[in-house]
Amino acid sequence: MESPDGASRETSVLIIVLESSEVYIIVSLSTRSDTQVINIDPTTGSLSYIGKLGHDLFNSEEEALNYITDCSGFLCKNTIYARALLGYAALGSFGLLLVATRLTRTISLLPGGGCVYTITESKWIKIQLQNPQSQGKGELKNIQELAELDIDGKHYYCETRDITRPFPSAMTSHDPDDEFVWNSWFSKPFRDIGLPKHCIVLLQGFAECRSFGSSGSGNIVALFARRSRLHPGTRYLARGLNACSSTGNEVECEQLVWVAQKGGESFPFSSYVWRRGTIPIWWGADLKFTSAEAEIYVSSQEPYKGSALYYQRLSRRYKAQRSDLTAVKEKKAPLIPIICVNLLRNQEGKSETILVEHFKESIKYVKSTGKLPYTWIQLINYDWHATVKLKGEQQTIDGLWRLLKAPTVSIGFSEGIYYLSKQKLKECRGLVVSNSDCDGGFCLNSLQNGVIRFNCADSLDRTNAASFFGSLQVFVEQCKRLGVFLDRDTLSGFTSVNRFGEYSKYGVGSLPPGWEERKDAVTGKPFYIDHNTRTTTWEHPFQDKPWKRFDMSFDQFKSSTLLTPINHLADLFLLAGDIHATLYTGSKAMHSQILSIFNEDGGKFSKFSAAQNVKITLQRRYQNVIVDSSRQKQLEMFLGIRLFKHLPSVPVHPLKVLSRPSGCFLKPIPSLKPIESGSSCLLSFRKKDLIWVCPPAADVVELFIYLAEPCHVCQLLLTVSHGADDSSYPATVDIRTGCNLDRLKLVLEGACIPQCSSGTNLLIPLTGRIDPEDLAVTGNSARLHAQENSYLPMLYDFEELEGELNFLTRIVALTFYPSVPGRTPLTLGEIEVLGVSLPWRDIFSKSGLGAKFIKFSGPKEHDSFVTSQHESFSNPFYNSLPKNNTAISLANGGLSKLSLPNIANHAVDLLTGDPILSHSISLPEFSNTTEQTNTQSGNLLDFFHGSTPDQYSSADTPTESQDRFNNNRRDTTSYINIFNSFASIKGRALDFLQALKLEIARLQLGISAAERDRALLAISIDPAMIDPNRLIDELYMSKLCNYADCLAILGQTTFEDKINASIGLEIEDNNEIDFWNIGEVGDTCIGTNCEVRMENQTLEKVSSTVSSKNLSRLFVCAECERKVCKFCCAGRGASLLISTYKDLKIYGSSLGQSGSSLSWQSEGASTQLSSSLGGVICKSCCDEVILAALYVDYLRVLAGLRRRTRADDAAVNALSHVLGPEVSMTSDFWQDKEFSKKQLKKLLDGEESLAEFPYADLLYTVETAVGSPQPLISLLAPLGVGEQSSYWRAPQSSRTVEFSIVLGSLSDVSGVILVVSSCGYSTSDCPTVQIWASNKIHKDERSYMGKWDVHSLISSFPDVYGPEKSQRDSNIPRHLKFLFRNPVRCRIIWIELSLAKSGFSANMKEDFDLFSFDENPFATSRPNNSSVGTVASDACIHAKRLIVFGSSVKRENQDISQNSDLMKMKISLDNFPQLGRFRVPIESERLTYNDLVLELYLSPAAPALAGFRLDAFSVIRPRIAHSPFSSDVDMWDSSLTGLEDRHVNPAILYMQVSAIQEPRNYVNVGEYRLPEVKGGTPIYFDFPRQIQACRITFRLLGDVAAFRDDIPDQDDPNQKGSPLASGLSLSNRIKLYYYADPYELGKLASLSAV
Ligand SMILES: [Zn+2]
Ligand SMILES: [Zn+2]
Repeated sequence: MESPDGASRETSVLIIVLESSEVYIIVSLSTRSDTQVINIDPTTGSLSYIGKLGHDLFNSEEEALNYITDCSGFLCKNTIYARALLGYAALGSFGLLLVATRLTRTISLLPGGGCVYTITESKWIKIQLQNPQSQGKGELKNIQELAELDIDGKHYYCETRDITRPFPSAMTSHDPDDEFVWNSWFSKPFRDIGLPKHCIVLLQGFAECRSFGSSGSGNIVALFARRSRLHPGTRYLARGLNACSSTGNEVECEQLVWVAQKGGESFPFSSYVWRRGTIPIWWGADLKFTSAEAEIYVSSQEPYKGSALYYQRLSRRYKAQRSDLTAVKEKKAPLIPIICVNLLRNQEGKSETILVEHFKESIKYVKSTGKLPYTWIQLINYDWHATVKLKGEQQTIDGLWRLLKAPTVSIGFSEGIYYLSKQKLKECRGLVVSNSDCDGGFCLNSLQNGVIRFNCADSLDRTNAASFFGSLQVFVEQCKRLGVFLDRDTLSGFTSVNRFGEYSKYGVGSLPPGWEERKDAVTGKPFYIDHNTRTTTWEHPFQDKPWKRFDMSFDQFKSSTLLTPINHLADLFLLAGDIHATLYTGSKAMHSQILSIFNEDGGKFSKFSAAQNVKITLQRRYQNVIVDSSRQKQLEMFLGIRLFKHLPSVPVHPLKVLSRPSGCFLKPIPSLKPIESGSSCLLSFRKKDLIWVCPPAADVVELFIYLAEPCHVCQLLLTVSHGADDSSYPATVDIRTGCNLDRLKLVLEGACIPQCSSGTNLLIPLTGRIDPEDLAVTGNSARLHAQENSYLPMLYDFEELEGELNFLTRIVALTFYPSVPGRTPLTLGEIEVLGVSLPWRDIFSKSGLGAKFIKFSGPKEHDSFVTSQHESFSNPFYNSLPKNNTAISLANGGLSKLSLPNIANHAVDLLTGDPILSHSISLPEFSNTTEQTNTQSGNLLDFFHGSTPDQYSSADTPTESQDRFNNNRRDTTSYINIFNSFASIKGRALDFLQALKLEIARLQLGISAAERDRALLAISIDPAMIDPNRLIDELYMSKLCNYADCLAILGQTTFEDKINASIGLEIEDNNEIDFWNIGEVGDTCIGTNCEVRMENQTLEKVSSTVSSKNLSRLFVCAECERKVCKFCCAGRGASLLISTYKDLKIYGSSLGQSGSSLSWQSEGASTQLSSSLGGVICKSCCDEVILAALYVDYLRVLAGLRRRTRADDAAVNALSHVLGPEVSMTSDFWQDKEFSKKQLKKLLDGEESLAEFPYADLLYTVETAVGSPQPLISLLAPLGVGEQSSYWRAPQSSRTVEFSIVLGSLSDVSGVILVVSSCGYSTSDCPTVQIWASNKIHKDERSYMGKWDVHSLISSFPDVYGPEKSQRDSNIPRHLKFLFRNPVRCRIIWIELSLAKSGFSANMKEDFDLFSFDENPFATSRPNNSSVGTVASDACIHAKRLIVFGSSVKRENQDISQNSDLMKMKISLDNFPQLGRFRVPIESERLTYNDLVLELYLSPAAPALAGFRLDAFSVIRPRIAHSPFSSDVDMWDSSLTGLEDRHVNPAILYMQVSAIQEPRNYVNVGEYRLPEVKGGTPIYFDFPRQIQACRITFRLLGDVAAFRDDIPDQDDPNQKGSPLASGLSLSNRIKLYYYADPYELGKLASLSAV
């Protein structure tokens, strides 16, 4: 196929699967001339693209392909050729890639350019990932089902034009209307890596055209049918309205007619749009096999909720001045007609009649709301089936036309001309539409205003037929206006020369005398001159009145109209009808024969016989009953909704593996046998089966991993290679991480590595470094209080330890310890470090995601309460945890009033997404109080003195500041005051609700659990006393947890619906009652006016607070209908929860739910149809446990928000550490990108820059002068980032500075460029430069590259003397180039700059003569010269950039053949006696405490125990565990960093083993930190010594509450008992073993092997 203009290429996509099973996507877009290579990480499935020429950016597809196969050393196992990328998602164990492999150009050239492709064949590519995270069968099944979603023939796209809006769209192809984009979730990964255009915008439905002129005349009619995605789904599950205020099977249709002139300058066109969908009220149908027709019901609760919004959306889209068109003429708002043509049966006894009645009512209701003042809604009822039966098809069509005439004529259609030249456009008198997607522009002479909407029960067969006859009339008129006449001669006595094929050639002879026909020079459209009256007109003098065919009978129409074009149109409608029927019901359309009524040869469509209809009916019935619910699920997953239900464990942003491809070891690893390829293969995915054997002499093996990018490390992944029975396994590992080699911090000590079969992936979740003091204070009390069996932090993690988050972590040091020191060799397998990195490339180029980061890294406002309020909207996380600035008022120790900022009231309302302005801006009142936040804070100073500052003064990391410390100190004061207020009133221990409130207050104050515990301990309070988890009994706890889990699901569901509902609408409901309605500590009922009066005053002087808050408004309870104040209302979550139960009775059955129980996974389904009620429920009508559940959910939300804020703060800190604190303020900071590129190119002179951050980094910290920018930004950042005049300086005391730079990859280095600071050099600060190169960090092994004395070089580079001349556009920055004699292959470059010992040397005197002050007038304005002192003593080492150049090594030498050698070596070394594991028989066992504790009783004769086998738990950790944050605005992720809750606070399980020995001797055997392994994998833990016991107890500890069971295959109403995952049960999971020689055991051995 040739491309339209012959010049550009077609888009080509190549999927390459290598033998190593790595997958690459090679994309060559038609809109670009280069080729990109996107890599799919084989472990996590994350996509990567860095845009480096010759690495993943190439000039052609061929070049890219060669690079991949050459450099990997692997052959292609499989190549898939595709035409377009449709989407990708990493779903845990699988990556799913969707590509279109075959396309049809269904519309080859739109007016203005652009081709519409229909996907005729697509391919789901399932990529197996090595992700060890457990994923249950249910999830895997859902992934499989998603990959079966049928795309072919029903989806289309246009690469270069926006076709999601009526033609012509004013928006570009990359700004589509979300309502019609089906792959916005599936294309997200490509947007996230900065390649938004690589994935096409996918529409569902139909787009095809027919040309109907004689050859060459090129009249074209195209039919578009865009299916809305707001109510996606299949027939019996998606009917009527949903929570997004959209109806089932909602389709926008457009009939576009244009005259294509070959090589023409202009294209006249006209477009007509209509809509079809099911009835916009809440209704549904129950399908029963037993009855012929489905039972129709209408929701008993608010059946018309959302109807108004539905019409509002139509009205916004179809008003004449469409909001998306650029130029909008100021006119009085016209009335927008929306005409609903309802084709339902409307006779007594027909089940559809109930819908007709409700439809009428709903329109009355919508009008009564007054919400649509400019919209004129009219309902036309036309019982299609009855009329056909009664009067026959022809008269039915006649009748329809009579009804449609008036509305169609008043709505009209859009007309215009596309001009290629912009000049013509300027002369255009109509509305001009143009955008960057077209060369020219569109001039619109008239616009359609309003829309006709057709419906039958399903928006299927009747709808398609009726809409065909409706738009047929418009089609004839459209043609006529374009000068294409479809009249047949015989009509009206007037002899026209019109014949088919000569439409536009109106015969000259047919004009009346004195008339002349001419053609518009531009459009070719004929116009007529009446020389008698000297007037011109577009209208032919004999032309009939417009829309004349509406007045004709069917027969008249048929006989007066050329039928061939009409049959072309009918053909398009037939095809479209089938597509939509298939999408909705899974079968073709029925009753379509009426569409061929104009077809004179008739028989063509005879296949639409009655028999055919029966067959389709049966097909549909089968589809609907059997397949619909799974198709519904498919669609939801494809659209990225309800993922928390279908794929709960799937991450939005998969972690990156940062230890490859360019990560490396900084030290060699000892090996039994030297390996040529070096240790790098331990980090390479390609060596998955690698076995590395360290010599037995080593007591420990230490590994230093340099990561490819700085990141926050979340997980360590070890691949077991030692096998389950080998003694050479490493028993434990210590992990240290840090930004530099000299700043490593211990993150994890003694994590045990169990024995398991080779190839097992062990995942060790990591936190950042936890302060040992935090550990000491808070610890994990579940483990500290080991005897306290019943304690489970089910509600939330009361004792959450906060590890330090650092996005600049660069080095991971691992220390492996053997099980038996010094005796056995140590065997290692592949090692991977997983984490989250910041988008540095985008940050440096200030584009994409990077811009978002820069915006947030600006200077913080510390003291403005008002500012923080304002920012809370634009910056959803930064101030979302109110820090401290609220004044906490205290009067003489007694609590008069507390006013805490309430997160829910800030920012955005959860359910609307709108900012809540009313009470969030109001400042707290300071009446009758003494403000003493600052003085009061001193009281606790004694306690903090000495201990705390140490914690915060970690100066080497950018995380904590002194400010923060002060804030925290102040906040604990406030916290203790709140605590006292609770405690003093009751005079006894806190009750459960108070404890919850206190914890909410703590999180609102931004206090960590450790800070809380310290503060409480200081006043001699045991923190455990206020732990809500301990204050309720088990039964209540599990009820509460189930409700809270359910709230989370409901909240997420509502949130998704609200976000989707807002598409195409401006929703302005301002709910004063939010999801939780928790209020603030100290709120009470307003009293008098409130009829509910829930809580009496708990605090004195309440009246003073009331006035400051907006509590005076009264609501009405939806249950008891009493007036109720805000305080006495339950949050909206409660109304949702209660209404869900009610709705289950109505809608539940169609979803296969019994509705009798709560199961957290299935609840979401019911809200598919459930609406968020407008009403509120008072607290007295609400079960007390539901109210408590609201508190628990809110607490979880706050805890989550704290984690997100910590992550976001850490990101901002990392940014300010690299870029300096006030980056965003200086416009000078980001210099012209293209200019810096050119500069660099000139500097490099054909070589590659090898030492740019973030790929390169400093190995050791570098001492830096106060006030100087950080070395990373000023020395290693890409050229062009950072202020022009700034440069790095060493402290004046340093005479020698050494930079050890790890390069981005192994490279052949040719030399180093030193870009000279803007101040230039003088005689006193000319450094001596020495350079070394190496692959290892050992200094003694590095090779010396040379010494350069800048001082002596200077005569050849006189321009580096003195300050820079001000012009910043100098072509090439001032620099010194140190060239090596020969290129050296290395990974690390050392550069030492040193100054002479200070003072003037004799030589320098001479220099001064040479470069006297006279000659160097700038010498006076040297750095620090303003301060006192001589030039010499002020001299310091400085530099602007260090650029290492050369070429990176493309293919690292990796010899694969080594593996088998290693294997042999290992086996031969394994000369230890082969012992087998044998099962120790158990006398009896007892499971207690939710199956988390297992007691095994042994007979006295049992052998000594050597260890235990554990079969890994089959549980998942869900991504979402609470309702959404009130500040969330994005459905998938609104966090800045993409670092998930799960990784900020990883859930870690421990197995504690204790034994009772005779006589009654209690022994603690050990505690094992359990790595995560795929469910069911057997792992073996040896005890530290042999244990002889009569009872042994296993106790599962840690974050048990964080795990869930896999989604159930079928919703089981009875499954829900305990909120704990049943997959954590120790039942049948543990076996004890001892070691013995299998020969001695003989036959028994095979029976009892473990
Ligand atoms: Zn009240
Ligand atoms: Zn009530």
